Amino acid sequence: MSIHWEILGKRGEDNALLVTVDTGQSQGHLLFDCGEGCLSGVRISTIQSIEHLFFSHFHMDHVSGFDTFFRHNYNRPDGNVNVWGPPGTIEVMSHRFRGFSWNLHHNQSGEWLVHEISENALAKSRFLTREAFATGEALPTQPRSEDKPDLNADTYALKGILLPHGNIPSVGYHLKEKDKQNINPAALQELNLRPGVWLQALTDTSQSDESPITVDERECVLGDLRKKLLETRPGESLAYLTDFRVTPGTPEWNELVEWLQGTGTLVCECQYRNADRVLAERNAHMTTGLVGQLAREAGVKRLILQHLSRRYEEAEWDEMLLEVRREFPRASLLSN
Ligand SMILES: [Zn+2]
Ligand SMILES: [Zn+2]
Repeated sequence: MSIHWEILGKRGEDNALLVTVDTGQSQGHLLFDCGEGCLSGVRISTIQSIEHLFFSHFHMDHVSGFDTFFRHNYNRPDGNVNVWGPPGTIEVMSHRFRGFSWNLHHNQSGEWLVHEISENALAKSRFLTREAFATGEALPTQPRSEDKPDLNADTYALKGILLPHGNIPSVGYHLKEKDKQNINPAALQELNLRPGVWLQALTDTSQSDESPITVDERECVLGDLRKKLLETRPGESLAYLTDFRVTPGTPEWNELVEWLQGTGTLVCECQYRNADRVLAERNAHMTTGLVGQLAREAGVKRLILQHLSRRYEEAEWDEMLLEVRREFPRASLLSN
């Protein structure tokens, strides 16, 4: 199992992040933001298999490419399409859905679930293609808490955090693969047990530890074998942060550092150079130095910089990377 990711769009242009959670048996596709042109190089079959689209916020450079996504998915035949975002997402999406003439929709499949993340609650509305997206049916609102993911899928869990972006919030997302239990071949050999179909019972969560099991004509208890033969491989993790500004010493900074602690890959905006800190402050974005310091304090394994301002010449992007590396050496830029 692993997490693959690709930043869509170029340096100085709109960016998005396409993530594939690969279990070996299946692949789940997730898209974070959808700026202009971001989907132009993505295969249509991939666009049509994205299960969740996560918006950070609805500034135009993060939502301009949504029509392409919608066009390929509005009448998805199998399973629903999920859209996530900050407070106001249900209203914004309702307008996006309704911004077309619908007259051939009555027999069309298509079910869209729109999730709205606020500080303490997760609201959800359902929109149907056959109703021309006329009304969003409000589904029960769920309370949010620190120890509970906002999305608990079979193979991964996802949490959002509201970050300050001027006077609006921008949602940061953290994706964590579930820990995987593997059979340790050395331990199997040590116990002198022959591999076979019985091994499947070890990772079958529907069977309790107390269940009896016969292996090589020996009567065993499943829990004992699990203890001796299974090893846990921790899942990979990735965080996506864009369009926000937090500064050291503030409660928001400390909360974010804590929230990111130990993340594998941090994909983060890097809009401005240190020299443009006045602009960064005015537009509620981060600078190279702040991004590097955040990655260092959070103890992430690697940092990938995206969403670089188009105000800079090409040569300056490499200088931006050097500025970040002064704070956090394991940083790289999205490829151009
Ligand atoms: Zn932006
Ligand atoms: Zn923005």
